[in-house]
Amino acid sequence: MKRNIIVNLHVVNNAQWFESVILYLKSAYKIVPLSAFENLGNSKNLCAITFDDGDLTFFDIAFPLLKKHNVPAAIFVSPQSIAQRENFWFQEVADYDLDKFAEIVAQETKIPYQVAKDAGIHAVLKSLPIEKIHHLVKEYQSATNTPPKEFRNMDLEKIAEVQRSGLISIGAHTLTHPILANETAEKCEHEIVNSVTDLEKLLGQAVRYFAYPNGAFGLDFGRREMDILQKAGIKIALSTDPNFVNRKADKLSLPRKGITYGNIRHIKMKILLGKKWNLLRNLRKPSEAKRRGIVKKNLLFVPS
Ligand SMILES: [Zn+2]
Repeated sequence: MKRNIIVNLHVVNNAQWFESVILYLKSAYKIVPLSAFENLGNSKNLCAITFDDGDLTFFDIAFPLLKKHNVPAAIFVSPQSIAQRENFWFQEVADYDLDKFAEIVAQETKIPYQVAKDAGIHAVLKSLPIEKIHHLVKEYQSATNTPPKEFRNMDLEKIAEVQRSGLISIGAHTLTHPILANETAEKCEHEIVNSVTDLEKLLGQAVRYFAYPNGAFGLDFGRREMDILQKAGIKIALSTDPNFVNRKADKLSLPRKGITYGNIRHIKMKILLGKKWNLLRNLRKPSEAKRRGIVKKNLLFVPS
């Protein structure tokens, strides 16, 4: 008997790969809707499949295969991104030039050029509140004549089609994808509560599930965020901590195993090893959490 897992994906670029993942998970687990994790009881061998961000590739590649194999899944989306056709910040910066970016960061923040360069674009931005992130992205765009990218998430029509299938649960993922731990209490509450209520209006049904942006407990969110979600009526909130789900796990911080790429052997190992896999991967270069720590120290530094 295998332990229960929730797996997590974002972008799915390859249909053949994704179909092999479905077939593997189907052969090794009982694939269930996320609702099965609300009351686990003594169930074993369950697997729920989740996708964060509402990327277009979910609609174009993953969704048809989920329907073909009659496999349930959950997606976590932002009602603001859907209604206003707005990309998330990390979708904009994906191919930005690090040298230029570090220059702009050094001009606009307390983070020195070399620190920003060593940390990398994502580690710098994940250390900042969302308003600062959006400001830096705009500064980069105007300094380099880089236009915002074409909208790359599902729009209203596509979300409606996904909802009509009855196969996919739709949960909230904040409004603008901030790292919630970097925000004030007020902003944090707004990002969570409004993503739930706005999504409910958009779907015309209650929203029971939520996924934390980035999703590491203690780094990206904590007790404060879990309390807000509880008050907002959320039944399950998902982290990205790569553990198995046991019966006693806190429903407002259920772990998930990321399976973004790699062949089935690689995915099996990743599921089995969890945190140990990340430790092995980080042997060669400092983890993003470590690089974010260095950036944050610089932000706190006040010259005497
Ligand atoms: Zn996300």
